[in-house]
Amino acid sequence: MQERGNISIHTENIFPIIKKFLYSDNEIFLRELISNAIDAIQKLKRLSSLGQYAGEVGEGLVEVSFDKDNKTITISDNGLGMTADEIKKYINQIAFSGATEFLEKFKEAKDAKELIGKFGLGFYSSFMVADTVEIQTLSYQDGAEPARWVCDGSTEFEISEGTRTTRGTDIILHINAESEEFLDKYKLQGILDKYCKFLPVSIKFGTKTNYEEAGEDENGKPITQETEVDNIINNTHPIWTKSPTDLTDEDYLAFYSELYPMSEAPLFWIHLNVDYPFNLTGILYFPKVKTELELQRNKIKLYSRQVFITDEVKDIVPEFLMLLHGVIDSPEIPLNVSRSFLQADSNVKKINTHITKKVSDKLAQLFKNDRKSYEEKWNDISLFVKYGMLSDDKFYDAAKNFMLLTNTKKELYTIDEYKEKVAPLQTNKDGAVVFLYASDPEKQHSFIQSATKRDYDVLVLDSPIDSHFVSNVEYKLDKIKLKRVDSDVIEKLIEKEENISLILTEDEKNKVKDIFNKAINNTNMKVDIAALNPDDFPVTITMDEFMRRMKEMGRLGGGMGFYGNFPDSYNVSINGNHQLITKILNASEDLQKQLAKQAVDLAMLSQGMLTGAELTEFVSRSINLI
Ligand code: ADP
Ligand code: MG
Repeated sequence: MQERGNISIHTENIFPIIKKFLYSDNEIFLRELISNAIDAIQKLKRLSSLGQYAGEVGEGLVEVSFDKDNKTITISDNGLGMTADEIKKYINQIAFSGATEFLEKFKEAKDAKELIGKFGLGFYSSFMVADTVEIQTLSYQDGAEPARWVCDGSTEFEISEGTRTTRGTDIILHINAESEEFLDKYKLQGILDKYCKFLPVSIKFGTKTNYEEAGEDENGKPITQETEVDNIINNTHPIWTKSPTDLTDEDYLAFYSELYPMSEAPLFWIHLNVDYPFNLTGILYFPKVKTELELQRNKIKLYSRQVFITDEVKDIVPEFLMLLHGVIDSPEIPLNVSRSFLQADSNVKKINTHITKKVSDKLAQLFKNDRKSYEEKWNDISLFVKYGMLSDDKFYDAAKNFMLLTNTKKELYTIDEYKEKVAPLQTNKDGAVVFLYASDPEKQHSFIQSATKRDYDVLVLDSPIDSHFVSNVEYKLDKIKLKRVDSDVIEKLIEKEENISLILTEDEKNKVKDIFNKAINNTNMKVDIAALNPDDFPVTITMDEFMRRMKEMGRLGGGMGFYGNFPDSYNVSINGNHQLITKILNASEDLQKQLAKQAVDLAMLSQGMLTGAELTEFVSRSINLI
């Protein structure tokens, strides 16, 4: 039996495209061929369990080996094998048209390279690294003959009698000149570690370079024997495939270290296990991470039936969940794009929704069952929860019940609890409850003090995400306003009905304004006379909440560049009821200016705004005044 033929007469020769197209990702050929080997083993098991195969199934095994001298890499399995007719059907026709379709679809796609990593090219990806590919196979079927298929990277193939004597398939790659780097133990070991660490069938990896004579067979041919030790390189039952009831905390922690060696232990985890409406398993860990910088390092790994696909899970997992670590395994995220990439979209959406719900359920449960330990972890998870609330409305709805606010006394409250706590004193004349917060308690100390003097409470919102978070929460919460303590004088932060009256006449008021304007001599500082308590500070410098938020968002790249470019402008509030103001009014013209400037500088000093030449001038003026 010998047959030559043309794989395809209709399409252009795709082999040169395969070879060039994905050069940098060419290592995936190994993943593709090993997945096929595993499929073949699992198909045989299925046939056996369905009673369609009566023979011995045995232990499934995939062997990967290479021969540096002959420049070959061989992937062997003891799966169901193929007859010559099946090779024609599956390799020449179905797989070929699948590969052609794949290349067509992604030839022009912008993110083609990224896609290829996730969704392979199948059997034909072997031509990325091989000039000639050979199949030696023997089908499980009764009376099947061994078959051999060879293709040299043109559309011509040859089928002839094969030499395999046991059921299964060898794929022999004759490695091309540009890919000889793969004929290396460490290179292959690295790829196997990446893609095959958790495959469900044992993978044996060895080199077949060292042979020993071991007698002769019945035809007088020498029998050779490998001397190098082969290793099973994978864990066929990773813990995400097991039932949570069979696992201990130690198992989860050990698996975490296996995934991310040298990383700090995670806080807690979720074991995902869904059968319907899609199939998904996995373990998501909440890492102990505080800064946004650290987040990029360890990533969620995506598997499809235990085959590693990628750790670029961007479109598959909601963005905020990318802060988590662990594995997700779903056959719904396919290896072969021609089969199901089109339907992936809706599946991916369902997967997103499901994971988001699981995560918020877990947090809600922790919060409910053990508030104390939840509070201890809050510091580590707050960034994650806030990010989630900002980016996902469903998550927001759940998380608003377990998201915690911290005040300057380090007490933790949910939004509802906090509203109830501060409402009696901090409700303004419009009926809105004002949440005061500090973004930098050190710098805003004098403002915090003014607030606490009135028994107001002050929150600490000092992480980089908080400026976004503040606007978002305020927008979503009814009758709650958030104001930074230094955004206005205390009387105006929470405006009440009963206003304190001003002791100054209209004439005096204008005079004070004039004195201060002259003393400050800066158009970005707007002077205003306020009727405050006589014990409040005589001068307070503030930046309007709205203006400040716009500027902050501009800096963070929130599309508010217009405001970001504004110079900083401040309000200078003069407490008209303070005795120092009366003193300034009654002083000589020269002293008036000095005292006014001194009062403004003191306010600046208490807010850390007085530096450089202005500070030096302040010091010499103080000495003069003394
Ligand atoms: P897919 O795996 O998505 O079907 P491939 O291009 O990877 O696409 O493989 C094409 C087909 O070739 C497989 O579906 C299978 O029928 C056959 N095949 C490939 N490798 C093997 C193997 N090791 N044993 C048996 N059949 C195989
Ligand atoms: Mg395949």
